Amino acid sequence: MARAVLLFSGGIDSAVLLYMLLSKGIRVYPLFVDYGHKASKAEEKAVVTILDMLKLSTKVIRLKELRFLSPHVRGLKKNSFYYPYRNVLFITLAAMYAYALGSNSIFIGLSSTYLQRASFPNATEDFVSKMNELLGMYGHGVKVYAPLIGVEKSVIVRIGNKLGVPFHLTYSCYYGGEVHCGKCPACLNRKLAFRKAGINDPTIYAK
Ligand SMILES: [Zn+2]
Repeated sequence: MARAVLLFSGGIDSAVLLYMLLSKGIRVYPLFVDYGHKASKAEEKAVVTILDMLKLSTKVIRLKELRFLSPHVRGLKKNSFYYPYRNVLFITLAAMYAYALGSNSIFIGLSSTYLQRASFPNATEDFVSKMNELLGMYGHGVKVYAPLIGVEKSVIVRIGNKLGVPFHLTYSCYYGGEVHCGKCPACLNRKLAFRKAGINDPTIYAK
């Protein structure tokens, strides 16, 4: 059976990707990275709850010390959830894990939500291909795949719906509260995706 490392954040995109891989009979090794971000606890809870249901488990890499890099610490208001270079770090960690497992494949749930924003250059096809060039230099055959790149979030929701993704267990909010805030960019994207997909949104929003 093919094996793959999946960067799993507990959000919609990576959850749908998880179900896509499992439906293809791929043995998935989820990886969660806690980089000291606001939503880390809520995301990890979503990851563990979903994987428990599937009788799978995740490896967790704790990099809480990175919280000093938080845009909030720098006092930035605009793009205050923007972590430049983060995906380079995630893919590197996943590549190290894949190599340790003897797997060649890394999956990351980048979607077009990010593509729409020039401030997220690390979620483009060009970024993925450049990361693959870099990984290729090591000669171990490890590659990163982002099959949802360029796919609109409402389409991702539809794919997930067909695959039986438990959307009520996924977590998207930037603030990490008990329920989704309903107002941050991630919550707004989430609401819009369900609305555009014409699928009932099971999320509890504060507003
Ligand atoms: Zn929110």
